[in-house]
Amino acid sequence: MTLIDLMTSKGPDLGLRLKALKKAGEHKPYDCYQCARCSSGCPSMKLLELKPHEVVGLVRMGFVEEVIESGMAWACASCLKCKERCPQDVAPADLMLALRNLAFEMGKEVPEAYTRILSEVMEFGFVQRPQEVLTKRLVRVNRERLGLPKMPEPSERFKSTFLRALEEL
Ligand code: SF4
Ligand code: SF4
Repeated sequence: MTLIDLMTSKGPDLGLRLKALKKAGEHKPYDCYQCARCSSGCPSMKLLELKPHEVVGLVRMGFVEEVIESGMAWACASCLKCKERCPQDVAPADLMLALRNLAFEMGKEVPEAYTRILSEVMEFGFVQRPQEVLTKRLVRVNRERLGLPKMPEPSERFKSTFLRALEEL
């Protein structure tokens, strides 16, 4: 992530601000009064250069590109806690999603972890394959040893629907 330096930034971009707000849907940042309740419950906060309430404030002012460049939107875990905690129904989580979509449209680099997740879903049908785990009694178990059936492969219908959904994003 880069450090945001508003002193050397290009300044607010109202066109980009409008695009981000349109994508954010009905939970607009206008009503945010910077109480920071969203940030106080955010599990990703330690990873973030900008806290959720700061993202809302910066987007509201039009510093959308700066927020996108910070990579902040990709670090959000989409847990929706900020949405639940916001007394003003602003939903920073929806704004993070909007910023990711906007970053993609602007040709910004998508973190490798995201593309890896998509190919796992495409090939396997889940974001993560079942793994061997160590129990409290230090016994290694996996699906086979537990007598569980093999995971089914995703069907061709699933794959084509998934691809179509990605194209429509
Ligand atoms: S909780 Fe809501 S009103 Fe408070 S700072 Fe966060 S987005 Fe703004
Ligand atoms: S949705 Fe994202 S920004 Fe909101 S609390 Fe969860 S991790 Fe933090």
